[in-house]
Amino acid sequence: MFDKILIANRGEIALRVIRACREMGIGSVAVHSTADSDAMHVRLADESVCIGPPSSAQSYLSVPAIISACEITGAEAIHPGYGFLSENAAFVQVVEDHGLTFIGPSAEHIRIMGDKITAKETMKALGVPCVPGSDGGVPDVDTARKVAEEIGYPVIIKATAGGGGRGMKLAKTPADIDNAFHSARSEARNAFGNDEVYIEKYLGQPRHIEIQVFGDGKGSAVHLGERDCSLQRRHQKVLEEAPGPAIDAATRARIGKVCADAVASIGYSGAGTIEFLYENGEFYFIEMNTRLQVEHPVTEAVFGVDLVREQIRIAQGLPLSFTQDELVPSGHAIEARINAERLPSFSPCPGTVRTFHAPGGLGVRMDSALYGGYKIPPYYDSLIAKLIVHGRDRPEALARLRRALGELVVDGIDTTVPLFDALLDNEDVQAGNYDIHWLETWLENAGA
Ligand code: ADP
Repeated sequence: MFDKILIANRGEIALRVIRACREMGIGSVAVHSTADSDAMHVRLADESVCIGPPSSAQSYLSVPAIISACEITGAEAIHPGYGFLSENAAFVQVVEDHGLTFIGPSAEHIRIMGDKITAKETMKALGVPCVPGSDGGVPDVDTARKVAEEIGYPVIIKATAGGGGRGMKLAKTPADIDNAFHSARSEARNAFGNDEVYIEKYLGQPRHIEIQVFGDGKGSAVHLGERDCSLQRRHQKVLEEAPGPAIDAATRARIGKVCADAVASIGYSGAGTIEFLYENGEFYFIEMNTRLQVEHPVTEAVFGVDLVREQIRIAQGLPLSFTQDELVPSGHAIEARINAERLPSFSPCPGTVRTFHAPGGLGVRMDSALYGGYKIPPYYDSLIAKLIVHGRDRPEALARLRRALGELVVDGIDTTVPLFDALLDNEDVQAGNYDIHWLETWLENAGA
């Protein structure tokens, strides 16, 4: 059993990990930038270490500073949360070279899945269905044009190193291909320092369905069903739910088994998410995330398990604490990602929170690092709270979300709460009738 874990993150996810540590009797170490000295994760952890100035590059992304913090405090393992260093294979290597444990998969698996072309080739070879597209990278615009002709327009040009919805460009017709190819490449070069791109068929009306998997690193794995994350703005998830309104038990069992078998066969260790587009009853792999997802709480709610606890157990070499047969979903859960942003432009709106009151009651979970008087620094992500509700069925979960949003008080800054109020009034949302393009179209119409 670990005595002490360092959390290389901030905000709500740092709190999430601290909570799991405390329940397991494990000490927690928070790291923070000078901008986060008063942050909740620093207050809640057993110990804390300042690792640098506000800029993420010099603090939360500083490998030497984080390794030093482990050495100073005697932490034996590092939980990376999501974002920051969570999918950085070189970091994992350094952690292991220092005799520390990374709470997550091996550097090799992170490397394979972090490169989307390699990830796709690997998954294809493991029998996972993929979006039709180029075999590997596309080196120039002539090849791009040829591949696009073969698979048929519209196509999407994507960065192999992509993430966060960046480095993706749509070409609806042959006239768009030149521009799409070059702008995807330059965006990829600027954002990721790697301009390799590939081409996929652009799906017109898919849902985003992702499967939660867990491997024990010794050749066994389970799946914990799906999450529907189709409500997206700029390819970024806004609201997630489990189970997916369009997925039945037989479909879940079928795609879940494909995913669990795939990760088992590569000896995958820890939590992972296999993301698909789902259209006309078919699944198409798009990428695998080798870490905990922002939206993991909806899976925790319907399966009644603690995924962070499971990550820590696996990192210690313990077996999975559940079998596939024991994993039966119950009820319905929805997560609303609440950002400090001003509507309708969604421009970031950091500032001082005058009053904060979190909703509560049956089936309500609030994961947030806010408190009254907290000054939200302008340097980081604008996510300030995740409101997760769980009900016996989808209508109950929707009613509960509306009720909980009504109790939430965040004074002093603008938030995206009014967006969720409006979404809950919408018939398509109430019916679970939406695809990945629905929210963008709805926002355009609302703005008109
Ligand atoms: P990122 O790593 O940047 O999140 P993904 O490959 O996971 O990129 O894709 C993010 C989102 O972009 C998807 O959920 C979907 O909305 C959209 N997308 C990606 N590939 C396609 C495609 N082939 N057709 C249509 N939409 C796509």
